[in-house]
Amino acid sequence: MSTSLLFESLSISAGQKENLKANGYLEMTPIQQQTLPSTLAGKDILAQAATGSGKTLAFGLPLVERLNPTAYFVQALVLCPTRELAGQVAEELRKLARHPGNIKVLTICGGQPIGPQIGSLEHGAHVIVGTPGRIVDHLRKRTLDLSRISTLVLDEADRMLDMGFQDDLQTILNQTPTSRQTMLFSATYPENIAQMSEEHLKNLVEVRIEQPPEKISNITHRVYKCERSEQALGVLSILTQQLPESAIIFCNTKEGCNQLSQALREDGIKSGTLHGDLEQRDRDQMLVRFSNGSIRFLIATDVAARGLDIDTVDLVINADLPSDAATYVHRCGRTGRAGRSGLAVSLAGSRDGRRLENINRENNLALEPKPLPKAAINQVIKLQSDLRTIAISMGRKNKIRPGDIVGALTATKEIAGNQIGSIQVQDFTSYVALPRTLADRAVEILRQRPLKGKPARARKI
Ligand code: ADP
Ligand code: MG
Repeated sequence: MSTSLLFESLSISAGQKENLKANGYLEMTPIQQQTLPSTLAGKDILAQAATGSGKTLAFGLPLVERLNPTAYFVQALVLCPTRELAGQVAEELRKLARHPGNIKVLTICGGQPIGPQIGSLEHGAHVIVGTPGRIVDHLRKRTLDLSRISTLVLDEADRMLDMGFQDDLQTILNQTPTSRQTMLFSATYPENIAQMSEEHLKNLVEVRIEQPPEKISNITHRVYKCERSEQALGVLSILTQQLPESAIIFCNTKEGCNQLSQALREDGIKSGTLHGDLEQRDRDQMLVRFSNGSIRFLIATDVAARGLDIDTVDLVINADLPSDAATYVHRCGRTGRAGRSGLAVSLAGSRDGRRLENINRENNLALEPKPLPKAAINQVIKLQSDLRTIAISMGRKNKIRPGDIVGALTATKEIAGNQIGSIQVQDFTSYVALPRTLADRAVEILRQRPLKGKPARARKI
């Protein structure tokens, strides 16, 4: 292990080094290694690296190191394309901000009532993580003051531009001091990003991390012949042959996601869908259920899945082949992470020849469609999840910790601690996974026991 890979080698506070260690961060990822020395020194950066490469820490560390806990004004702003991403980034920043401590990180996103946000802003925050549209709303209402920020981050900048946030970004940039440090992170590098960085970044350092070749070479790729009209049968066949613990299934459109989910349900396989048309709350819940294993199969569009920090899955299925080769790589990157082997299986119909050729050429692959194996219907039962998720109407803002939920659930001795699955505490809601057979009883127990002295609502989702 070369020492320059270690966080220890950076010029950051000793407290932060301890904090990183406590969070299990020892070695830097390539993007962190190549940006942190410059960004910690205050330089602007334009960085391009794939999803899952550790960009949050790359901008989070310089951002947090510069905060002054005793100065009560907004010192840093992170812009993200969606509320989920803002939530994930805020979560990560809170971990980093344990040193220096006493740092308030506030998320300000659309799709939520604006009144409580105004209240929270009045209370003061050191760091704001938000989506551009809503940040602009607050600037117009003068409920947010960015005139003294020292750090501005545009996370997933390419996607924010794709989503039409260009004007909002311009408005926001104009209300921040030119003395700020600007960090622009992007998974791709389109022309409009170049333009934007030329206009707004100074003394800029540019870093691009190419997807390392092993990233897709530790993945086994397979393609099966299957016409679009037989797509559900194709997916059923792959799932019953592979019996994966978890899988992400990609479709090119949201209608495709819904149809496939419906068809799989008719075959006895439960899946969740993730696409742009879902209510924010449903998207949040879907991600929670997928990450705790109470939904094993997630059917998603590229836009909805992009950038989300979903743990590595055993299997990626391309129910529809993507039209471009880079998207194929992005999708496959969801499996085989962290040195594990992965499997990516695609369905290709008679009209997909050009797409497959393109994917092969750009990625140096030689995939050939093979006949689809027969679906093993008697295996469907092995694809069910034994877990259910219970949502509880209290969260971090009610000072709930996972231990409170374990305490309540085990109080009657009917449920043992080791039967309780993953617990996620969010701002106003908490989620706990439990075996299906215990879920109803768990809901009753939770309804009868106050949490932090207050009765909570609980229900299966
Ligand atoms: P990106 O924004 O590039 O998609 P994230 O910042 O979401 O990636 O990081 C992906 C995952 O990797 C997160 O779960 C994060 O906690 C983890 N991670 C980031 N940096 C490191 C590191 N240096 N060591 C170990 N894990 C890391
Ligand atoms: Mg990210």
